[in-house]
Formats: sequence, structure tokens, C-alpha cells
Amino acid sequence: MGKLILSHVAKRFGKVEAVKDLSLTVENGELLTVVGPSGCGKTTLLRMIAGFILPDGGSISLNGRVLVDPMSRAFPLMPEERDVGMVFQSYAVWPHMNVSENVGYPLKVRKMGKAETKEKVSATLKTVHLDGYENRMAHELSGGQQQRVALARALIMKPDLLLLDEPLSNLDAALREEMRSEIKEIQRELGISIINVTHDQTEAMTMSDKVAVMDQGSLIQFDTPYNLYEDPENSFVAKFIGSANIIPAARSSEAIDQDGMIRVTIEGDYTLKVPHKEGGKEGLLAVRSHHIQPHEGSALRGTITGKLYHGNQTEYQVQLKGGTMLRVSVPGSYTGNPGESMGMEITKAVWLDN
Ligand code: ATP
Repeated sequence: MGKLILSHVAKRFGKVEAVKDLSLTVENGELLTVVGPSGCGKTTLLRMIAGFILPDGGSISLNGRVLVDPMSRAFPLMPEERDVGMVFQSYAVWPHMNVSENVGYPLKVRKMGKAETKEKVSATLKTVHLDGYENRMAHELSGGQQQRVALARALIMKPDLLLLDEPLSNLDAALREEMRSEIKEIQRELGISIINVTHDQTEAMTMSDKVAVMDQGSLIQFDTPYNLYEDPENSFVAKFIGSANIIPAARSSEAIDQDGMIRVTIEGDYTLKVPHKEGGKEGLLAVRSHHIQPHEGSALRGTITGKLYHGNQTEYQVQLKGGTMLRVSVPGSYTGNPGESMGMEITKAVWLDN
């Protein structure tokens, strides 16, 4: 329904480059999640797509229709002309209207007849599981229900693209989980494309077809959740997605074995094999905490500085000789304590140049 193409989009506010030369494509029916530290440009990006902010450069098109292109003479399309719906973090449900009036408002503005409006409101309320709530006022709704009203109001115009700016962040954990699966269901049912902004890692990993990781206005990696986790582009992505351990490393030789692996060394004398990548002699290894396990006879040793019990696992903080701090997640019954030495084996790692 909605193929979105962003090409070299840029936006500056005074000295701040909020979005820098950003290009990406969201395919029909895909759910893209945008993540990144606070202030990296996520909301600015969404607002440019919605039409609330004009980019300084680049172009945005949806289904072959140019929404905005500052280089061309064409006027940018107004937000209401874009076939784009948006739901914000604040519920933005009008308190003086009941649920039906809130959801039907966009149709009223377009002067749609009463009978047709009623039919569409009723169908949309079913989609967000709010049928039966037509006459409730906003203050009689829970936070989750109010957010469903905002979602229904965005969906009633049958947009090709739905933009979600942290709509679940004010909800409690159980409700967030429920809304996540409902949004996925809406995506499948309506075949709609969705861009979701979130600070929630689980949400990004579990809901998305693709994830865009941004930092300081730039797109750092645009990939599937699997590839982001398994093959991060650099140490920023490795730390931001799943907080990997980052360990300075050196290649021990240029030889690539038959499985496409190369040998690298960390801490001077511990060697391991990692998938080959082009790059320099010195680099970094990204290692997930559960890919390091206690191993008494290992050449890789460190001192335990902390221990956190999580129930299904225990997380140890371990300091290597060179000063690097590691997080090691141990399932079951390893009995090390702070102050003691721990030998470790790394079972999987990814080479990074920076
Ligand atoms: P958060 O996760 O905190 O919501 P974000 O990634 O959505 O942040 P943006 O709101 O897009 O970030 O802001 C990107 C940068 O642009 C920030 O440095 C912000 O201060 C700046 N910025 C955003 N809007 C404006 C504005 N209207 N005027 C001036 N600077 C702005």
C-alpha cells in the first residue's frame, strides 16, 4: 500500500544538523522502527514525512507521489494531502468529545455524511478493539484506551503510511505488550506501512521488519533486527542494540580459513576465530554477554568486580588485565564472587573497525 522513499533528506535548526543526508526506503506493508539516543533526529524525521516540518534538502515520496522536494518548483503536499496518519506520545484525545466523535472527526472535517461516518467509525473501532465504547468520554477511558482512540482516528482515513511517535511509552508494561501485538495485527490486516519511533529495545527487536539506528542526525545502520544484532556495523550499533561488550583486538594473521573465519587476539595472548571482514589490523570485537562463559583453564582471565542475580541468569562484571570491563551472563550455577579471578571462553564475536 505505501512505499516510502526518502532520498538525501536533511534538516538543520540553526547550528544543529537534526537530520543529515538521510536516504532509506520503506517497502509496502513494512514496519520500520527508528531508534537512537535522545536528540538524534527521530521526531524531526517523522515530522518531515508527516508534513509538519519542511526539509532543507532531499525528497520524500510515497507510492510514487512526491510529498516534498525542495529542489523542485512543486509546492510540498500539506499534511492532510499526504495519506499519512500520525499518533503521538501524548494521547491527544479531545476531552469534550466522546469516542465516536473523536474517531470520526477527520471525516466530519471532510464533510462526509452521517450514515457513512457512523459505519466507518464502527469498523475502525472494531480494528482497535474498542467497539462498545462509542459513547464514552475521554476522561472515562484508561491510558491504553485513549491511545487506541488516537490510533483509530489516525486509521479512519485509511492512510498508506502510519507514523507512530512513541505512542506506547506512557503505557504500563503489560498494556504495551498487548498494544504491540495489536499494531502488528493492524499492519497485517490493513497491509499498511508503519514507521515507529521508540526508546524500547524489545519493541524495536520484536515488532520491526527493519530498524533504522540513528546517531546525531545520521543513519548509522538500516537493517533487519537479526542483522543488527548479529552483524552490527560498528561499536555504536553493537552497544546501542543489546549492549554488547566491546573489546580492543588485533588480527593475528591475514589467513582466511575454509569457513571464512580469521584469527584475532585480545589481551595480548587469547586468540579466537571471528567471521572475516575487510579492514585494518587493529579493531574491536563485539561480544554479547551470553557469548562469554566461565572456563577455568582459559588464557583469558579477569577479576570479578560485581555480580547481579536475574533469576534465569547471573550477570558478572569482570575487569580484564588491560582494564576493559566485561559483562558475562552465566546461566545456572557458577559460584564466583567479587574479588575472585574468572577464566573465560568467548564462543562468538564480531569484528568491528570502529
Ligand atoms: P528524543 O528521543 O529526545 O525525542 P529525537 O531523536 O526525536 O529526540 P529530535 O526531536 O528530532 O530528536 O531533535 C533533533 C535535534 O534537533 C535536537 O538537537 C533538538 O534539540 C533539535 N531540534 C528539534 N526541533 C527543533 C526546533 N524546532 N528548533 C530548534 N532545534 C530543534
